[in-house]
Amino acid sequence: MSALTSVSGFPRIGQNRELKKIIEAYWKGAASLDDVRATAKELRAKHWKLQAAAGVDLIPSNDFSYYDQMLDTAILLNVIPQRYQRLAFDNPEETLFAMARGYQGDKGDVTALPMKKWFTTNYHYLVPEIEPSTEIKLNGTKPFDEFNEAKALGIDTKPVLIGPYTFLKLARNDQAEEIEYDKGLVNAVATVYAEVLAKFAELGAEWVQIDEPYLVLDKEPGDVELFKSLYAKILPARDGKVKVLLNTYFGHIADVYETVNLLGFDGIGLDLNEGKDENLAAVQQYGVNSATTIFAGVVNGRNIWRNNYAVSLGLIDALKQVTPNVAVSTASSLLHVPFSTEGETALDPAVLKHFAFAVEKVGELVEIAKLADASDDEKKASAELAANQALFDGTRVAADPAVADRLSKLTDADFVRQPARAERQKEQRVALGLPLLPTTTIGSFPQTKEIRAERARFRKGEITKEAYDTFIKEQIDACIKHQEEIGLDVLVHGEFERNDMVEYFGQNLNGFLFTKNAWVQSYGTRCVKPPIVWGDVSRAKPITVEWSAYAQSRTNHVMKGMLTGPVTILNWSWPREDITHEQQTQQLALAIRDEVLDLEAAGIKVIQIDEAALREKLPLRKTDWHKKYLDWAIPAFRLVHSGVKPTTQIHTHMCYSEFNDIIRDIDAMDADVISFEASRGDLVVLDAIHDANFETEAGPGVYDIHSPRIPSEAEIEERIHEILKKMDVEKVWINPDCGLKTRGNAETWPSLEHLVAAAKAVRAQL
Ligand code: GLN
Ligand code: ZN
Repeated sequence: MSALTSVSGFPRIGQNRELKKIIEAYWKGAASLDDVRATAKELRAKHWKLQAAAGVDLIPSNDFSYYDQMLDTAILLNVIPQRYQRLAFDNPEETLFAMARGYQGDKGDVTALPMKKWFTTNYHYLVPEIEPSTEIKLNGTKPFDEFNEAKALGIDTKPVLIGPYTFLKLARNDQAEEIEYDKGLVNAVATVYAEVLAKFAELGAEWVQIDEPYLVLDKEPGDVELFKSLYAKILPARDGKVKVLLNTYFGHIADVYETVNLLGFDGIGLDLNEGKDENLAAVQQYGVNSATTIFAGVVNGRNIWRNNYAVSLGLIDALKQVTPNVAVSTASSLLHVPFSTEGETALDPAVLKHFAFAVEKVGELVEIAKLADASDDEKKASAELAANQALFDGTRVAADPAVADRLSKLTDADFVRQPARAERQKEQRVALGLPLLPTTTIGSFPQTKEIRAERARFRKGEITKEAYDTFIKEQIDACIKHQEEIGLDVLVHGEFERNDMVEYFGQNLNGFLFTKNAWVQSYGTRCVKPPIVWGDVSRAKPITVEWSAYAQSRTNHVMKGMLTGPVTILNWSWPREDITHEQQTQQLALAIRDEVLDLEAAGIKVIQIDEAALREKLPLRKTDWHKKYLDWAIPAFRLVHSGVKPTTQIHTHMCYSEFNDIIRDIDAMDADVISFEASRGDLVVLDAIHDANFETEAGPGVYDIHSPRIPSEAEIEERIHEILKKMDVEKVWINPDCGLKTRGNAETWPSLEHLVAAAKAVRAQL
């Protein structure tokens, strides 16, 4: 007998991104909705079967989604804003996609729901919007259908739901504000979950997993009460027939563990990867209800390194000192790791054996569960355990002494740019001669099929480097000409030479490894393929200098150089686990610093260092913000740019708007200008900028690039006026909210024309 095993969630995009491909084909009119449904069904079956074959006991269902599981939850609760209901589509999928992406067509013109990052991951969820008219009730049958679909294949699954507490904490009202949890709302939501449980009891589900990741955040007054009142109403619906696993991840729940334990869940899922010390201490302090099984989340769902079995077994043992009822689980959903290492045929087996993607993690889970119940003799005889131990015993990769040497010589002065920003901003105004409300973009322009095909040809050796470079130069030329024509002030070269803002840099840095097929869902059908930090990092050679210098030579406008910052490179890579994130970020900072100084020497006057992912990895608990992250992440950014001349303007860009709480830390990055997302989220950050006397000049995105919708000039003009209510006009930049590479040219250029026209119109009114 081995311990019960449970997978919290499995990637749904498919081994070869089948789901992405069919949905995008459907959006383009090249596939039918039935084609989409058929592919989705095949993928679900494949994923269930593979977990069943591996010997997993509790296999998740309803972890599948066409776009996002939070959106599915909103739809299940009938939280569908009027503007989408009014479109009156024939198929529920059409409504779903309109909520996810906005809709512009015969039936109307509506914006999408806001999108935000899912806790500290690079996955984005759609923010449910509860209107006064929303009638919360069970809507649709998705979770039941998927459960039955698996059952028909002979597989009993454990349905997975996002829990009511997390749902309510993340939902917003139609003003994008936190909602008020009045009794009626709480009751209505709890009633739906109770109904769902009752239905699953009837369908014969043994376990239902309810995910409450929001429990790992600090509690506000009323939160614990809210949680308790929801579950007091929901749990009786089990009726002795179905067990409820309350699952948590991305951190610890030490502050509510006692409450959770007293509520009498059948299972409590704890993350023993992130927040393991606190979770363990809480279990030791408060014990475990005799009817409750602790699901020990030991298999990391967020990184791709092999599990260290000895460590996992130690954690399980520690729990077993408290309770005999311990199941073995993934620490979070496996949604955040790629499908299988099988796809990485180009990597040396000696390297590959250090990695475990979703499929391999499922295997690890089963092996760990077996070992957890094995006797000492059995453990000694275990080939799996020995092979695993061997991975961690030897040195995986030699250290680079030159990197260590450079780091050891840094002094405090290396982290401070001179002179002070206010002084620099004056000098830059003279040097750059830009109008008020300068217009610019975030860097990339549409990566068309043609561009991707040409890069593929080059990679396969079908065209020469000269031919490829000529092609890219033509793209740059055309993009510059077009930007000049529509009247943008600060131009970009378009980033056509880059496949991805992180991978492209990684490819030109020592210490990185790359995968062929290790895709991870970022939002909707968008996937990313993070590189792997394998060894010590340094710059092999100049990376962007030639392209930026070429682009600058083609225009009299200011050409902005484009770099990715160290924090983002690390956050969007698979980091090493043998040295700290701080150490890895410093190594990266020095590498990018070399590039900044080379760009400046090549005549580039404005350099943007993207820190798109800085906010994303902000620890979930406020007490950890500085000591575990900002205290080294912010100085690392300063190290990148502290060596430039006062007149060189340093920009940064961030893919989020929620930094009101860390506004002073953002200012402390000491950039001259920041652009950030504001159009799809709320504009609360503008108040924060105002209240903090934010020194950095700022471009809050004036339209949403994550949707194919074209914003009107009037709409953008209105947005600029909103911004000007809160910011000094001298400090405002006008830009979209992110890079344009995922968009098509057809929507990009009209949108930018509207942006420039709106900026000009407002300038004329000043
Ligand atoms: N410069 C990058 C681009 O425009 C920034 C992308 C991002 O923030 N995700 O594509
Ligand atoms: Zn962005």
